[in-house]
Amino acid sequence: MSNSAVISTLDRERTLQALESERFDLVVIGGGITGAGLARRATLSGLTVALLEGEDFASGTSSRSSKLIHGGLRYLAMGDVGLVRETALERKVIFRLAPHLAERRWMVLPVRSRAALLKFRAAVTLYERLGSVDRGDLHHNWSRRDLEREEPLLDRSRFPYACAFREYLTDDARLVLANLRAAAASGARLLNYAPASGIPLENGRAAGVEATCGLTGRPFRVRGSCVVNAAGPWIDAVRRMEEPDAPAQLHLSKGVHVVLPASRLPLRNILVMSTGDGRSIFAIRQRDVVFIGTTDTTYEHGPQVWPDISIDDVEYLLEPLPRYLSVEPLTRSDVIAAWSGLRPLVAQPGKKPADISRSDEVLLSRAGVVTVAGGKLTGYRPTVERVLESVARVLGRELPGAEEGPLPGGDFDGDLERLARSLVEEFGISEPVGARLARLYGCEAAEVARLGATPAAENAPLLNGEIDWSVMKEGAARLEDVVYRRTRVALYDSEAGPRIVEPVARRMADLLGWNPQRISDEVERTRGRMAADLSFGGPGT
Ligand code: FAD
Repeated sequence: MSNSAVISTLDRERTLQALESERFDLVVIGGGITGAGLARRATLSGLTVALLEGEDFASGTSSRSSKLIHGGLRYLAMGDVGLVRETALERKVIFRLAPHLAERRWMVLPVRSRAALLKFRAAVTLYERLGSVDRGDLHHNWSRRDLEREEPLLDRSRFPYACAFREYLTDDARLVLANLRAAAASGARLLNYAPASGIPLENGRAAGVEATCGLTGRPFRVRGSCVVNAAGPWIDAVRRMEEPDAPAQLHLSKGVHVVLPASRLPLRNILVMSTGDGRSIFAIRQRDVVFIGTTDTTYEHGPQVWPDISIDDVEYLLEPLPRYLSVEPLTRSDVIAAWSGLRPLVAQPGKKPADISRSDEVLLSRAGVVTVAGGKLTGYRPTVERVLESVARVLGRELPGAEEGPLPGGDFDGDLERLARSLVEEFGISEPVGARLARLYGCEAAEVARLGATPAAENAPLLNGEIDWSVMKEGAARLEDVVYRRTRVALYDSEAGPRIVEPVARRMADLLGWNPQRISDEVERTRGRMAADLSFGGPGT
């Protein structure tokens, strides 16, 4: 088995053959954060693992989140103290495993009065205790004068005070990839574009997974002693492969984010704003953009890879801006990108999506299939531990605990500024590109730049080396994989995004042997996707 953290699309055929010929302790359906974290953790306990992802890795909910590694202050108000403690503690762990994927940021909660400030301080203090927050990371109370310096865009005549507390910002899809690559380093066999279509039984017990190669249409079968259904919003569909009458477990809730250029909305921190219906949403500065999210509405159209975004969603997210900030009015025409995802919440009949607990639930079927529902990106490790308890029961053996070392890219002291400077010096790239590479690839950034430090197109921030790295190390098999999930250029760079689609496709074609028809299909599909993201034609919610 392999010992390097590589998922190479060039090796796709060999991976398929291994999946067919080997027998595994564990077959995981779903390559979001839950499946990826499980694959990583199970290999550390010595299990042999296969993982099948129907689309691209992280193409489901795990690339559509608010990208916060947070305990969720609002869940305290819901009384979910256990969940808050667990996820608040996880913040430091994820920072230790992958400092480049856990950026320490201030979350700013603006308030109108001293009395309101005192109320929030009490909640934040409890939150900090639950999360064992270090002294240097404890909250600050910002006065009007502090706000003038720290968040000048906030309308201080309305909000003269704010409580600023520590949260962490990640790149959700890259956290998934880091876990998958760590699993690959310990021998896991991982394949994207490989939808599972059946769970064959032997003597009444699940004996593996039937699947198809989504790129060639070739069916194949993976043999395994335990099957885990980590299909996120699709878990009910996977359960029905085994038990056609299985009752629905999930309440799907749609969450939309819109992206605005930071030149129009030059925020510095993560800002919490209240919506007209009393919910909290975030405005989050990331590179040269600010993204705003999220909505939380019941989604009744069944699980979809690209849930629609309606104009109502967009207006709902833009509405609070003039109430909080001193900015020119912003409208849908200022939105440069948008994404929408589905929360796989464990149904609690009678409750609105916003009131449903974000806790996870692990189910074990008669045939021994383990299904995991609900959960948070932040809490993926504790979720995975609970899944592993059921896996151990199915396998009939104890699984040893394991010390988790850094994830790929995370083996450095966390000083991203120094890392970025060294990249600028070594490769002659601009400071913003150096900073972006350090954040995306951590201590592997120099290896990425060594593959090609030239821009993918004139003045584009994306380097050719990043395209090669995506294909050779991170399993990118389609153009969309590179621009949406490996580099995020489609979401965070309205200028470069459409411009570099063709150059990226040509470079991928050189690596993967695509013919002119395939290049033009990939380009058309990705451009169509980008246009659809901004059409806001979905049904109102
Ligand atoms: P997914 O990421 O959806 O993964 C399931 C995978 O299974 C998919 O990739 C899918 O393609 C695959 N699959 C489905 N069917 C099959 C099949 N038949 N064969 C093979 N593969 C299949 N959490 C936080 O901690 N912080 C946040 O800031 C945050 N913000 C959020 C904002 C929004 C709008 C949403 C929707 C969620 C947010 N969450 C957040 C929650 C978090 O994103 C999810 O809990 C988490 O990503 C779920 O991961 P998952 O692996 O269970 O599901």
